[in-house]
This record gives sequence, structure tokens and C-alpha cells, in this order.
Amino acid sequence: MSSTNVETVDVVIIGAGFSGMYAIHRLRNYKVVCLEAGDGVGGTWYWNRYPGARVDIQSVEYSYGFDEDLQQEWSWPEYFSAQPDLERYANHVADRFNLREHIRFSNPVTRMKFNEAENLWHVYTATGGHFACRHVIAATGSLTAPNLPPWPGREQFKGEIYHTARWPAEGVDFSGKRVGFIGTGSTGIQAMPIIAEQADELYVFQRTPAYCMPSGNRPLDEAHERDWKDNYPQRREHILQTYGASMVEYPEFSAHDCSPEQREEILEKAWNSKSAFQLIVAFSDVMTDTAANEIVCEFARGKIRSIVKDPEVAELLCPTTYPIGGKRLCVGNGYFEMYNRDNVTLVDVKTAPIVEFTESGLRTAAAQYDLDVIITATGFDAVTGAMDRIDIEGCNNRKLKDKWADGPTTYLGAMVSGFPNMFMIHGPSTPAAQAQMITTGEWQVNWTADIIDAMEREGLNRIDVTEEAEQEWAQEVDMGVLGTSPPNVTLIATAHAS
Ligand code: NAP
Repeated sequence: MSSTNVETVDVVIIGAGFSGMYAIHRLRNYKVVCLEAGDGVGGTWYWNRYPGARVDIQSVEYSYGFDEDLQQEWSWPEYFSAQPDLERYANHVADRFNLREHIRFSNPVTRMKFNEAENLWHVYTATGGHFACRHVIAATGSLTAPNLPPWPGREQFKGEIYHTARWPAEGVDFSGKRVGFIGTGSTGIQAMPIIAEQADELYVFQRTPAYCMPSGNRPLDEAHERDWKDNYPQRREHILQTYGASMVEYPEFSAHDCSPEQREEILEKAWNSKSAFQLIVAFSDVMTDTAANEIVCEFARGKIRSIVKDPEVAELLCPTTYPIGGKRLCVGNGYFEMYNRDNVTLVDVKTAPIVEFTESGLRTAAAQYDLDVIITATGFDAVTGAMDRIDIEGCNNRKLKDKWADGPTTYLGAMVSGFPNMFMIHGPSTPAAQAQMITTGEWQVNWTADIIDAMEREGLNRIDVTEEAEQEWAQEVDMGVLGTSPPNVTLIATAHAS
């Protein structure tokens, strides 16, 4: 594209998800353009329209705190809002704060190059857009790029194929259909019970079973809403001081301080707490002590055995190869109960993996399954996936992909040495999906915007970080994982493996 078509702005924001939207608002006194791949706002909550999609953190928490009027006037219908309500909220915020005037929809960024002589980033989009700017904020999300199934023969299959993260806005009619579903993570667990009610037959292809507890979702009661609205500023302040930026906190006592009866009582209460995280914070050491963790695992397995009537199916659904909390604990609405339906079949693809798509369905190492619809809830190329899909070139013609070939290195998860004036929100080595991402996103945007403000105020053209600073941050993150302070998932996983 010729330089006459370059649009010069101060800041380019990539992505109009929750962090990108707040970044527009926070930086609107600059010339700001936000480039968004989709044709609407909301990011994760725009793309993941699969049936049953729902947040697992209370909506009164999982919402913006930057504007007191906004949090006072908005009402969530349920404790854990469904995707349509989150998308409605994102649209409300976009309208209320006039964000759309800054957003170029259907404009995925394909390439970015830093011009060292100009101290400018040049940002290119798939639709031919070319922007020159001093600062780039990559609010690209950590769960953006879907993992597509690796099996050959996809083009042979005569039926419909969907990925849950690219769900059609008009929905899918499953009536009278044989559906194959791959993926038993948070997404699959939410979607399948609803699909099972509509489909003729549902085949669940399970590789690794999940720990899952009931969501306890319910209409939001007025007293609870009032209590939050009366205390928002203090609560927002408080949650930023907690691990995970949420109101969920560890108790003082260890599992080893309790008798078996006390443990059972505490775990039963946690199971019925209507908060997904209570099970992994039932004792102070669930995430740091292998034996304490195993107590909770066994409780969760006991629940599966008591809900699922067929003992063989129940055993196959019991996770045994990793600690509870080692992967995000899933929340369900009738997930295990679904396996008591006559039209649901659990297929173990750990022992007999899926081999290929065929004309009429899927073939595993053990059998052929004839299907009308195949749904993959196979997760994401997480954390780096969205950045990897953009061809990013920094100083000395170095590509980010090459720099990250052996794994991502960052300073504070926000900046990368050799890629000046480029800031990431929820980047690699931030808590990302381990935390309540709207609040931590706001915090990171504020940090970034403060830097941009300071640079503009002081007439500085370029900010970069050193490789030493990246190494120090990597060491600090490693210490967080391997150290003694809870929670420490890797330590447990290592102990299990040894
Ligand atoms: P995920 O947790 O990565 O789960 C992907 C599933 O697909 C796993 O069961 C995985 O099995 C399976 N899979 C992948 N490749 C496969 C293959 N080749 N053959 C058979 N099975 C295969 O993805 P997700 O469920 O979409 O969740 C991703 C993240 O999104 C979650 O951790 C959570 O942070 C977020 N999320 C949150 C909510 C919520 O807040 N309620 C809802 C949905 C998602 P293996 O385990 O064996 O790899």
C-alpha cells in the first residue's frame, strides 16, 4: 500500500474486547483507533456464542469498575450471566461511552512493523488498512485463537462442523440429529447438557475427564445486588489485593487440621456453595499440598459416582491423572446428570484416539461413528496464539515469532525487549485467565495509559525494556510457581509425577 493511504494516529488498540474497550475510553484524549476482527464488541463474549456459555465468576464482580454511574445503573439478571447478557453489556458500554466512533470492525490486524528512524509502528489490516502510530496496545486476549482438530479428512465429512469459539450467531438446530462432541473442558461441560436435550443422539468423545462442580446459578436477588452497589469502591479496591482478583479467599486452616467428618462437612458446604472456586479454597493447602489436594479430588470423584448411574461410565468420568485445580475447575449445570440420559454415549478416546474424519462421521482407533454434526470444543492456542497470528517485526528486523520460538519472554507480561512502545494486556506471564480478567484488564490498561501519558508529557519517543528485565521477571514468575506461597499447581503436578 502506498504511503499516501497511511492513517496517522497516536495509539492503535488491537481488539475490542473488554480490555480494548476500556483502553479506548481511558486514552480517548489521544487520536485512538481500535482494530477489531469481528463485527461487534465483546471479544471472548462476542465469539463464544455456544449454547450454555456463561461466566463462572459472579457478574457483580465480573464487570467494569471504572465508572461508578455505570456500575450503579447496570443490573445483571443472574449471579453468573450468560453470554447474551455479557454481549449486551459490552454493547451498552460501547454506546454509553461512544466507543464505536474509534472502532474499525471486521479489520483483523495481519502485520506490524516498528520503524526505528521514525519511532512509529506501522500496522496493517487484512482489509488493506495501514496505520502509523506511536503506541500499540495489543488487547488481543489470551483465549482468542481456536485450536482446530488435527485429524485428516475434514473436507470429506458431509455433515456440519462447528468450533464452539466460532459459533454461528443464528444458532444451530440439533433436532433429530446425531451429534459428536469433542472436548470436555469448561466449554464442553457448559454446552453439552443443552445439546443433549435437543439432539437425537449425543456422542461425547472424552480424552481427559474434568473436575466439575455445580454452578448454582440463580436469578440475582435484590439484597445481594444492593449490597454490592452500596460497597463497590471498597470491593473493587479489595479484589485487586487478592490472588485472582476475586472475592474468593483461602481459609486459615489446613485439610490436615480437620477430622474426616469435619472435612466432609466443609467439602459438602463448598460443593453446595454456588461458587465454583470454593472447592479449591476449602482448605488453606488444597493447591500446595498433594495429600490435601487428593482429599478434595476424592470428594469430587465421590460426587461423580453418586450422580452417574452406570458405574463404568462414572469411573471413566473420574479424573485421576492430575490434581484438582491443576486445570481450571469447571462449573456445570447438569453435566454429570446428562450421562444418565438414554441418548448420551461416552466414548473413551484416550485409549482409542480419534483417527480421522470420514464421509459419515468420525473414526477412532476402535470404531466408526456416524454423525450429522461434529462440534469441537478443543480449546485455544492460549496466551500467545493471538499475537503469533500477527506478523510482528520489532527493532533490527527481528520478528516476535522468532524471539518467542522457545517460549514467550516479557517484562511484567506487558512489554517485550526489542519491541518498543508495544504494550500487551493479559500478555504471557500475567495472571490472564487465572484471574478475574475485567478488573485486572482495567488495572493493566491504567498502568499502560499512565506510561503513555508520561511519555507524551515529557516528550519521550520510545520506551523499551532490557532482556535482563525480562529474565528477572521470568525468574519471579518461576518463583511464584515453584515457591512456597499458595497456590502452587506445578509443585503438586511435579509431586504427582515423581
Ligand atoms: P480446554 O479447557 O482447553 O479444553 C479442551 C478440551 O478439548 C479438553 O477436554 C481436551 O482434552 C480436548 N481436546 C483437545 N484436543 C483434543 C483431541 N485431539 N482429541 C480429543 N480431545 C481433545 O478448552 P475450553 O473448554 O474451551 O476452555 C478454555 C478456557 O476457557 C478455560 O480454561 C477457561 O479459562 C475458559 N472458559 C471459561 C468458562 C467460564 O468461565 N465458565 C467457560 C468456558 C471456557 P485434554 O484435556 O485431554 O487435552
